[in-house]
Amino acid sequence: MIDLRSDTVTKPTPEMRRAMAEAEVGDDVYGEDPTVNHLEERAAEIFNKQAALFVPTGTMGNTIGVKVHTQHGQEVICEARAHILNYELSMMAWFSGCVARPISAEHGILRWPQIQKELRKTSPHFAPTGLIEIEDTHNMAGGTVYPQAVIDEICDNAHSNGLKVHMDGARVFNAAAAMARKVSDICAKVDSVNFCLSKGLGAPVGSIIAGDKDAMTYGRLLRKRLGGGMRQAGVLAAAGLLALEQTPQRLPDDHLNARYIAESLHSMPGITVDLASVQTNIVIFDVSATGRSSAELSARFRDHGVLMNGISPTVMRAVTHYDVSRKDCERAMAVVAESLRA
Ligand SMILES: *Cc1c(COP(=O)(O)O)cnc(C)c1O
Repeated sequence: MIDLRSDTVTKPTPEMRRAMAEAEVGDDVYGEDPTVNHLEERAAEIFNKQAALFVPTGTMGNTIGVKVHTQHGQEVICEARAHILNYELSMMAWFSGCVARPISAEHGILRWPQIQKELRKTSPHFAPTGLIEIEDTHNMAGGTVYPQAVIDEICDNAHSNGLKVHMDGARVFNAAAAMARKVSDICAKVDSVNFCLSKGLGAPVGSIIAGDKDAMTYGRLLRKRLGGGMRQAGVLAAAGLLALEQTPQRLPDDHLNARYIAESLHSMPGITVDLASVQTNIVIFDVSATGRSSAELSARFRDHGVLMNGISPTVMRAVTHYDVSRKDCERAMAVVAESLRA
């Protein structure tokens, strides 16, 4: 099977499995797991933040990110297709007592003037704005990348309005690869950033949230409260360390493969792809003019050894990662072309 459903499907490399088997461990709830401590220190260094926290999932990282910066009854400004709003079981409401103030933005990239219009102060009617959240790369907009100046402008203005900025950087290393920049530069001004070790970076489990020392100290309590006190988590952190240190440099290959897929799809009758939005490892394409639904196409592809999901009845998504080679991508495109002809 050629699995293009998501970059979460990457399996740990043999080297990761060896590192996991040999990891030094301790009880992380006591702060005594040397491998987890090392991973958190390295992540903080790489992002140039005061502290970092190893969490089981990106959803938990974002949940902590929202909670440390907000109070119950506030609004969180985010893009309309944001993961925190649409794919995290309403944790911002369930755990943090906040409501989303979604803004639709071209390519998923929020800009300060749009945000400024939605800021609310406490009044007899309004829930005040508590936090601004940005997603880089933006998953449902097709892996789009925030221009650096846009991030910096949002952060500078947020801060002068007394607001914090949390970045859902699940794929911020893909953004870094696309921009040929360091993640520490991309995230220099955000107050916290969450990123996934378990997607394109290839670790089997885990995400990291990084930010100020005080926020992360509070975050450590929240992690325990959410069920993320993982004890001998060094076996997972060992794979996470390799993912963090070694995988980012090969992400450009995934981006080239995504570009190849986008251009192939673009040339097929009935398929629409916005090539400008294909900037990293995600390709979102519209199949309505093929006369078939995403579900029908998905089933047909599966019969021929290719996994790809719909994100709506008419829109599908392909995601590249290190477990699909260029050859696999070529085969997948042959299957798509053939399925459309059949
Ligand atoms: C995958 C993802 C997350 C976190 O997902 P988990 O499955 O909880 O690890 C967060 N944000 C974005 C944009 C994602 O793609």
